[in-house]
Amino acid sequence: MSTPVLDHDHTGHADCCAARAGTTSAFAGSLATDVRTPDARDLVAASRSEPAGRPIRAATVDLLVLGSIATGNPAQPTAEAMGIRNGKIVAIGSRTDLDGLTGEQTQVVDGGDGVVIPGLIEPHMHLWSTGLFLGWEDCSHDANPTFDDVVATMKAAVVKAKPGEWVCGQLFDPSRYPGEPDLTVDILDQFSADVPVAVANASMHFLYVNSAAFKAAGITAETPDPPSGTFYRVDGRLTGVVGEANGILAIARAMPQKPPEDFANALREIMTTAAERGVTSMREASTGNIMGVNEVGFLHQVNGAAMLPTRITTAQSSLIPNATWAKAGITPGFGDDMVRAVGWKVIGDGSTQGRSAYLREAYLGRMGEYGAMNFSLDEFKASIGEGHAAGWQVMVHANGDAAIDLILTAYEGVLAGATPHDQRHRIEHSTISHPEQYRRMAASGISPSFLIAHVYWWGRVLRDNILGPMRVNGLHPVKTALSFGLRQSLHSDYNVSPIHPLRSASIAALRTTQDGGDVLGPDLRVSAEQALRAVTTDAAWQTHQDDCGSLEVGKRADYGIASANPWTTEPEAWPDITFSETRLGGVVAWQKG
Ligand SMILES: [Zn+2]
Repeated sequence: MSTPVLDHDHTGHADCCAARAGTTSAFAGSLATDVRTPDARDLVAASRSEPAGRPIRAATVDLLVLGSIATGNPAQPTAEAMGIRNGKIVAIGSRTDLDGLTGEQTQVVDGGDGVVIPGLIEPHMHLWSTGLFLGWEDCSHDANPTFDDVVATMKAAVVKAKPGEWVCGQLFDPSRYPGEPDLTVDILDQFSADVPVAVANASMHFLYVNSAAFKAAGITAETPDPPSGTFYRVDGRLTGVVGEANGILAIARAMPQKPPEDFANALREIMTTAAERGVTSMREASTGNIMGVNEVGFLHQVNGAAMLPTRITTAQSSLIPNATWAKAGITPGFGDDMVRAVGWKVIGDGSTQGRSAYLREAYLGRMGEYGAMNFSLDEFKASIGEGHAAGWQVMVHANGDAAIDLILTAYEGVLAGATPHDQRHRIEHSTISHPEQYRRMAASGISPSFLIAHVYWWGRVLRDNILGPMRVNGLHPVKTALSFGLRQSLHSDYNVSPIHPLRSASIAALRTTQDGGDVLGPDLRVSAEQALRAVTTDAAWQTHQDDCGSLEVGKRADYGIASANPWTTEPEAWPDITFSETRLGGVVAWQKG
């Protein structure tokens, strides 16, 4: 049996991951009705209260977890007992190893038939835009097998709409229908002359609207495109298709605002869904697009009302100047262990299945169509440089290989001559990419996070209609990134795909498609251990949470009770592993009802 490792409250994590604005989780407080608070620092202070104090005896633990434990730590893969004090693991080993660590105040919990595993990390998802979409009509391919079904869904919703209401849909995915049809203004106007209608593309890079929605937003055929956004036109006439964040926001700002209570409930609902899949920490990958800088303070308020079901680190949107974030008190590391500001988000290009990702070679069968970048090289250097100089971890969305070329050039320009410090800049999605790009990432200390869901959900459509087999077999080359010594992670980009880290890991290990089980690029499959690292320890590293991702002394006691041990189960079975409970720092965050 392994030797127990004992520790006396050493956290042991790197300086870059150290707390800057306090480390106590917020358990108390109430949700204020006014969310337009000017300074997020006040909200954190108000929401924080010390946990019920009691003397801590060095020899005893607060919580003793017994049962089958899969640690995620290759040096000690399994254990029978884990001792937790002040939210941290202080001992882990066999039952006898931990003898003598319990006192009168120690709570003993038994994992029962389940397996205690490290809390899973979702390193790139969208809380705010998905919160906005919650309650919108389901226009997904699963719910609407044909394009006519999508039109019928929206038509039925318009019929039920009350005067003054908007009718909105989400998850519409033209790539799943023959001919990749758009929901044009002409189609939507047929059944809704007065009711504003808006439908979000599943990729979140496009919105489809009718004339009433354009009118409500004050947009005409003469309105210029916003920076990096597009109101698509044919012969000078609006088509109804709106592209990229600034275009979509021009419409969204005209929609009736969701009351803060509804947003709070929506955020909790999304985080609960994640907890059900064993997730204990997520990266919100574009913070500020809906409520501006107030989004960070709002998350603290919601957590203050009752502990959130998962920890959240935020990536501040670079569409808002850093000076505005700083003025609101939001600087790198601001927050607490539940909600912390860490990243700086830049959106490089568009969506692969939406044909707006920027490619070296044209889209299949579309001569001259390469997709596009949202900004010029100099503009990218400026916005990456702004985030880097401020000390943020920069995350740049880049799907296409030409986009990755340009973003790497921008990064290299910014980082040339800069004093290296451990910011761990990232490239997001890295969908169509090549070995030499990973060599460049390794040389600049940049790491990729893969939207591996493309392989499973869109693999066949991308291969047959959009990219062709050559490019699709090389989609998301996790193994190539590993061969250059890079640490990397796997993400859902929720709600682009469901939050489900064990499915993401399974896709990386198997590379099969959803419809038909074809294997895309079998030589790029990674081992079970490599795939699981990308949703545990490496994802923790990539979200600047070095004290998460595995169960070992000094780390936070973030864990889930799973129906099976993924490290000893075939990857085919990982998506079916269920959870009965998750804990953050030893405190119950979610329990199966
Ligand atoms: Zn994203």
